[in-house]
Amino acid sequence: MKFTFLGGADMVGRMGMTMEGDGMTVLVEYGLSPTKPPAFPIDAPHVDYAFLTHAHLDHCGMIPQVCGKYRCDLFTTPLSAEIGEIMMYDTLKIAKAEDYVQPYTTGDIERTMEAVIPMTYDDEITINHVDVAMLDAGHIPGAAMFDFQKDVSTLYTGDIHTETQKLVYGAKPRDCTNLFIEGTYGGRNHPPRKETEKAFLAKVEEVLDRGGTVLIPCFAVGRTQEIMMLLKDLGYEMWVDGMGRSVTRLFLDYPEYIRDIKSLKAAKRKFNEVRNSGTRDLAKKGEIIVTTGGMLDGGPVLAYLNYLKNDPRSAILLVGYQAEDTNGRMLMEQGCVKIDGEIVKIECELQKYDFSAHADHQQIVDFIKGCDPDNVIMMHSENREAFIDDLSDYNLILPETGKSFTLDV
Ligand SMILES: [Zn+2]
Ligand SMILES: [Zn+2]
Repeated sequence: MKFTFLGGADMVGRMGMTMEGDGMTVLVEYGLSPTKPPAFPIDAPHVDYAFLTHAHLDHCGMIPQVCGKYRCDLFTTPLSAEIGEIMMYDTLKIAKAEDYVQPYTTGDIERTMEAVIPMTYDDEITINHVDVAMLDAGHIPGAAMFDFQKDVSTLYTGDIHTETQKLVYGAKPRDCTNLFIEGTYGGRNHPPRKETEKAFLAKVEEVLDRGGTVLIPCFAVGRTQEIMMLLKDLGYEMWVDGMGRSVTRLFLDYPEYIRDIKSLKAAKRKFNEVRNSGTRDLAKKGEIIVTTGGMLDGGPVLAYLNYLKNDPRSAILLVGYQAEDTNGRMLMEQGCVKIDGEIVKIECELQKYDFSAHADHQQIVDFIKGCDPDNVIMMHSENREAFIDDLSDYNLILPETGKSFTLDV
């Protein structure tokens, strides 16, 4: 089969890959990089079947351009489909507000949702003599890996985590011949999760003790809920704002994808929800605020930043990746952010904690050893070379976007 990356081969963002052979073209993921303006993968050819691993924008954001046009079946978990739909409509909303190119129409999103064929973990389907199994990827609720089996097995991980988190269990390796695996954390290892949690909770207490407010900007899908579950028993006055609220409700609709649904329900109860500008004014004076967006580039977080900016007793606790050219990165590097076109200095304390939902370098290497493949195709990484020494037992392929290669399948 011929494999072509349409994006995301050597970067964390705008994923997309096609598999061509046996008279069919399969698309695996099609996302966008949420930069300003967003960056898209290269155009997809005519597609017969599409597979979506999970509902993060860099994996799902461009799916409607393909499924809307070709009306091809889209295989994914029902939870990823529902969250994906929110992300797709949000993409159009942002494009309209910022005057960016509209990559597809609302009609394309509707046709995409009609094309969804829900699958769940351990389900198997057959397309053109290829058996496809869906497996748990561990990364966020509903995230899946796909195993394409013909003569040999080809496993595509999407984003994975192998360690158990509050929301989900870790992914398990599976014997295969070709392994497409993400390498976000190439060359880097996470500190032990328990230590990170302890340091984070100690900082929260310290800030509240000195009379400050704790502002925690979070990605809507996954991180918001992880942090809510971590904070739920502390008895503080806590608020949650932004798209993370609707995602929490969706998670509760699909308890089969949540490790401890009782704990998530309890977390939702312990947080006050910001529903309008009136409650947002109350939240500003609260003790802890968990809000989108995670990279401080838009969403309600800017209203809180603006309110708290001159208060050195308050703190901003970053709990996720801060990409280049984002407010989050600017805050880390220069101590200021851009709000409504103006550069604003932030006097609050700033701390960053590693609550990643991705496997780290060692966990990726261990996962690969557990799958024992012949070929390892490393993707979704800015530091793929870091794996060369550890993977000398395997044929390591570092694909380039737009350049096809073939593998026996
Ligand atoms: Zn992801
Ligand atoms: Zn990703």
